[in-house]
Amino acid sequence: MNGFEYHAPDSLQEALQLLQQNGEDAKLLAGGTGLINLMKQRLAQPAVLIDLRKISDLNYVKPDNGTLRIGALTRHRQVETSAEVKERVPLLAETYKHVATVRIRNVATVGGGLAHADPNQDPPPAYLVLGASVKAVSSSEERTIPLDDFFVDYYETVLQPDEMLTEIEVPVPPANTGTAFIKFLPKTADDYATVSAAALLTLGEDEVCQEVRLAFGSAGSTAIRARGAEDMLRGQRASVEAFRAAAEAAKDEVDPLSDPRGSAEYKRDMAEVFARRALEQALADAQARLAASGRR
Ligand SMILES: Cc1cc2nc3c(=O)[nH]c(=O)nc-3n(C[C@H](O)[C@H](O)[C@H](O)COP(=O)(O)OP(=O)(O)OC[C@H]3O[C@@H](n4cnc5c(N)ncnc54)[C@H](O)[C@@H]3O)c2cc1C
Repeated sequence: MNGFEYHAPDSLQEALQLLQQNGEDAKLLAGGTGLINLMKQRLAQPAVLIDLRKISDLNYVKPDNGTLRIGALTRHRQVETSAEVKERVPLLAETYKHVATVRIRNVATVGGGLAHADPNQDPPPAYLVLGASVKAVSSSEERTIPLDDFFVDYYETVLQPDEMLTEIEVPVPPANTGTAFIKFLPKTADDYATVSAAALLTLGEDEVCQEVRLAFGSAGSTAIRARGAEDMLRGQRASVEAFRAAAEAAKDEVDPLSDPRGSAEYKRDMAEVFARRALEQALADAQARLAASGRR
């Protein structure tokens, strides 16, 4: 690992000033679970490291007017175990449960995870189907970026060198909505996925799919939405046949690379299987919610 200048600012403003002063030479350090590995491999060689651990006011989960706001420095484990998250957006609690080990989840932050932008990570497909957006702040500006526009390529996002991700905003899905996250792990339980899939399904009258969103991890250079498959299902009655046809179409929307977790061809086949299963699980979840609320 190369030498670097180390700062541990006490406030967000101080961190943003350091970012502005040092530009591309600087890197933010949140949990460090991703960045330190990259530094050890010399894939990242920042001259200046800005440690965020003293900034305590970016660690929260707050319900707010039909959304859930999650501070960027909230740990994975906090989201996984939060009563607010379980009640309002259970998909997130379920998804974070699948990330690595409890030890890593106790350290890794929500903002660090998204900014890391490794396409093999679990949370991005879940945030994509939820229609989440992130708040990016610099010392002079603040902007909201829909997650659909956030990821650019392997380990690359639209964040500028002077910007910091401060918050994730997640719309709470309507009551008649089911969700699912599934991850294929052929080796060990703490590994990255061979392929993962997240689905969200809002049911209308007669089980018509009012809204459908489907996304994959480990299936391209970023987390991917399967928009063609979603379009096929929107307005259709939810059925095994409809899901099968959409899943077949989703297979052509992914662009996986071969790696030690599976060949590109295998991952493409898995994407079809996982699309179907995720949709079926989201449907079962929506049906269970409707039954529990007495609306079915
Ligand atoms: C052994 C191991 C197993 C893992 N397994 C999984 C897995 O199964 N599934 C999975 O999804 N992930 C897995 N991960 C990845 C893990 O989720 C990421 O390393 C973690 O989410 C990164 O969060 P962090 O807070 O540690 O970020 P850091 O490592 O501190 O930072 C990561 C990157 O984000 C930048 N950054 C950090 N915070 C901000 C911010 N607020 N604004 C802008 N940029 C910022 C940093 O500069 C750096 O470039 C694993 C990691 C390890 C080490």
